[in-house]
Amino acid sequence: MKKITTLTLLMVSLFAAAQQETIDQKVNALLKKMTLEEKIGQLNQYSNDNSITGPITINPNKQAEIKNGLVGSMLNVTGAESTKNYQKLAMQSRLKIPMLFGQDVIHGYKTTFPIPLAEAASWDLAAIELAARVAATEASASGIHWTFAPMVDIGRDPRWGRVMEGAGEDTYLGSKIAYARVKGFQGNKLGDLNSVMACVKHFAAYGAAVGGRDYNSVDMSERMLWETYLPPFKAALDAGAATFMNSFNDLNGIPATANAHLQRDILKGKWNFQGFVVSDWGSIGEMVAHGYSKDLKSAALAAITAGSDMDMESIAYKNHLAELVKESKVSIDLVDDAVERILRKKFELGLFEDPYKYSDQKRADKALNDPENRKAALDMAQKSIVLLKNENQTLPLSKNLKTIAFIGPMVKEYKENMGFWSVELPNVDYDKWIVSQWDGLQNKVGKNTKLLYAKGCEVEGDNKDGFAEAVATAKQADVVILSIGEKRDMSGEAKSRSDLHLPGVQEDLVKAIQATGKPVVVLVNAGRPLIFNWTADNVPAIVYTWWLGTEAGTAIANVLFGDYNPSGKLPMTFPREIGQIPIYYNHFSTGRPAKDEDSKNYVSAYIDLKNSPKFPFGYGLSYTKFNYSDLKLSSTKMKSNETIKVSFQLSNVGKVAGEEVVQLYLKDKFGSVVRPVLELRDFQKIKLNAGESKTIEFTIDKEKLSFYNNKLEWTAEPGDFEVMIGASSADIKLKSDFELVQ
Ligand code: BGC
Repeated sequence: MKKITTLTLLMVSLFAAAQQETIDQKVNALLKKMTLEEKIGQLNQYSNDNSITGPITINPNKQAEIKNGLVGSMLNVTGAESTKNYQKLAMQSRLKIPMLFGQDVIHGYKTTFPIPLAEAASWDLAAIELAARVAATEASASGIHWTFAPMVDIGRDPRWGRVMEGAGEDTYLGSKIAYARVKGFQGNKLGDLNSVMACVKHFAAYGAAVGGRDYNSVDMSERMLWETYLPPFKAALDAGAATFMNSFNDLNGIPATANAHLQRDILKGKWNFQGFVVSDWGSIGEMVAHGYSKDLKSAALAAITAGSDMDMESIAYKNHLAELVKESKVSIDLVDDAVERILRKKFELGLFEDPYKYSDQKRADKALNDPENRKAALDMAQKSIVLLKNENQTLPLSKNLKTIAFIGPMVKEYKENMGFWSVELPNVDYDKWIVSQWDGLQNKVGKNTKLLYAKGCEVEGDNKDGFAEAVATAKQADVVILSIGEKRDMSGEAKSRSDLHLPGVQEDLVKAIQATGKPVVVLVNAGRPLIFNWTADNVPAIVYTWWLGTEAGTAIANVLFGDYNPSGKLPMTFPREIGQIPIYYNHFSTGRPAKDEDSKNYVSAYIDLKNSPKFPFGYGLSYTKFNYSDLKLSSTKMKSNETIKVSFQLSNVGKVAGEEVVQLYLKDKFGSVVRPVLELRDFQKIKLNAGESKTIEFTIDKEKLSFYNNKLEWTAEPGDFEVMIGASSADIKLKSDFELVQ
């Protein structure tokens, strides 16, 4: 039996190798036929002009370029019909090389899933992978070959608007999610229908922009780059990511787009990445404004030299590469390498066999209306919700309430629930496609419950004219649900904010409603951690709903009435005030660590604010209670080739079934470089019925104890460690010491 398995495996890998060989041979044969201009064409990517679906809208000059084989890829062309129309132009070119169609399919295509940061709050890797799978299925049936996702940038600064697009602040969680998302987008292998190429972005360190201002400079030690920012990229690569996108920022003075250290030494060198790198939108051209390149021509030289293979929208390669080759400033080998990388993907996708393979209206109609997709979106939305506070058992709400007031500027919104970076298709009526928060509640309550509505105020502005009506409405109700937050376009690209408090007069509205004495539940809709201290300190129940997508209203109603028991945990630290930012749980200790929160003397603390956050990383409540007990270690000493089993009892001691994300943190007590106060190194999401207990087991091996030592080598150093089991990074339930011996 074993023999057969080994033999089969061998044959499978030989077959795969043979196939790869033929693709390489095909690439080489094609390359030989190509003129320099045609080669450079493959490196050139244009965006569609205005409409993303339907007939050809791009200007006639660019149409002619496509027909002449001078465009390798386009973005923002989607829909079976449209992609087919554009591909037909490419098929008129001399060598009939098909174009790649790329699109920002970030959290769903027609079925919108929660924003990526919200999905990260689920800590549910299978659900996250499925969300990407569904997006891939819908997008690929619409002619898309390539999504510009996942964004795997670590985000430690909630002022940065793009934290909504990532997986939060933690490298370990971020790496697991990066892996799951790539698997979800790409499926088993490129070329399968329902698979799209992933594009891991933004390489690298984009999330560490000074001041949280999008596009801003990043100045970072090599240590921090390797320890905190690069691992999610490596995880995505290990999952087989086909492409990478570089980033707008400069890193230690060199724009990422021209950063040979990042793209040549690390990505294509040490990591042996075989796919291709696309620039970010216009990032080659932007190197002139950066003050790095004298003009577009030198920008093109710097970018290709540093390993940027495809030029998104700078037209730098198209206009200057040929000249640079003729002047011998760029070798033809460099150009060939970039072209080969791109052609290989086109072959792997099967586009040479059938350039219209993915543009199939029938398949699209089916995929885009598959009820299973909405089910997955609902499941993901429920799992993304984080219960921040629930005093006096305000939640879940009884289904026998006579009157509920649903108040706030978000209640009757439709598209707002999609969040930033969502695809909007022209032929979809989103007011019917999306379940608004109002619709969700209405569908949930029975005939005997009366639902009242008042807007109260807008998200922004200082107009309080609606307060009186909102207060009067609240007074008629048994319970008030108040839906507030940011607008969806207040987070995302170029949406950095210096003020993270609830915008406008919304917190004043909360105060006015709370003053009625009615039980109040606040829903906070946002793309980032917001600051709402008065609300957090005074309102009994707070639910963080982020932006949940197509099924937002149903998911929220299910949580409010206990048909789904919330299980999300924060993937980012919520600060008390903006002055604490950047704030993250896995910081180093100082030589003067605080013994308790209020001892401000001689410790690294603010004299006017606590160091601790408002809500810590990993935090989230449930309608049930979990008890942690009985920590056991299989040994208190391990050699580096051994493992320690860590086990404990998790019990659901409440009255309803629920899920708990149990988190394993480690602390390396001393090292050749200082180590964080604690670091997430494993987690499990456990479902338990009321009254049920289970033994949970983790394994600690050398890998979990490893870090970049003082020589930047990935290794574990002998010494003392502490293992902690927590319900959050600030709620350690069990801990014990052990030693790694030589
Ligand atoms: C963003 C990328 C995105 C690209 C294409 C850029 O502005 O930074 O993340 O993929 O546009 O839309």
